[in-house]
Amino acid sequence: MSKKPRPIPVPAEPIAGLVDAHTHLASTGRSVSDLVERALAAGVERICTVGDGLAEAEEALAAAHESDRVFAACAIHPTRAHELDDTTRARLTEMAADPRCVAVGETGVDTYWLTHDPDRTAPLEVQEEALRWHVQLAVDTGKALMIHNREGDEDLMRILADSPRPREVMLHCFSSPVEVAREAVERGYVLSFAGNVTFKRNDHLREAAALAPTGQLLIETDAPYMTPEPFRGARNEPALIGHTALEVARARQMEPEELAAEVGKTFSRVFAV
Ligand SMILES: [Zn+2]
Ligand SMILES: [Zn+2]
Repeated sequence: MSKKPRPIPVPAEPIAGLVDAHTHLASTGRSVSDLVERALAAGVERICTVGDGLAEAEEALAAAHESDRVFAACAIHPTRAHELDDTTRARLTEMAADPRCVAVGETGVDTYWLTHDPDRTAPLEVQEEALRWHVQLAVDTGKALMIHNREGDEDLMRILADSPRPREVMLHCFSSPVEVAREAVERGYVLSFAGNVTFKRNDHLREAAALAPTGQLLIETDAPYMTPEPFRGARNEPALIGHTALEVARARQMEPEELAAEVGKTFSRVFAV
């Protein structure tokens, strides 16, 4: 049986002033300079790159020092929360103090792998302890807290509610039900939408994107995953965020340029850049 070849992804028409609030440059298999150049050609002027483990966080911070278009977020991913030992905590504390590190993340709750393949993740108690440690680091450094949440709405919202409040809380790749979006914006959190907001079945995400007040909405690629339609399944990169921007602008009944200006301001405030 022959498989239909995947179309090669191309950026949308350039929209000036776009940002990518959460991506993994080191995981795309391309150099930082190449990715930034391609992003700039698509109008993507600023990028926040993230690492999942300590080595990847180091790469993210190095990328942020290499390009003035790139900022870093540093933390240990919830599925790797068991890696948060004393040495790692000490190094993350140093990294969070670096001016090019603008967020502590991604940290949070991921129960997906607990039910699908527990060997691929950390127990929930370990994730919770790691999340609470990262929250305190964000509070202590004044950096934004960047949250990963996969099938962990209840635990996440409970832990955040009884933790000290960081300057900014951003829910990356927002994929939860509309009720969670309402509760999150009521608490002042920022919802960041990725390529899955373009997927046909995800009306609830477009609804969440429509209800987020100005200043509480960001867009991201989460590359190399979450490639927006019409290139779903292909390898993602920051240059492709225009497709997501167009969908979010449609959901919010705005012009794409207006949306780019809005998320640009929010990016500046959340990451203090
Ligand atoms: Zn994530
Ligand atoms: Zn991510």
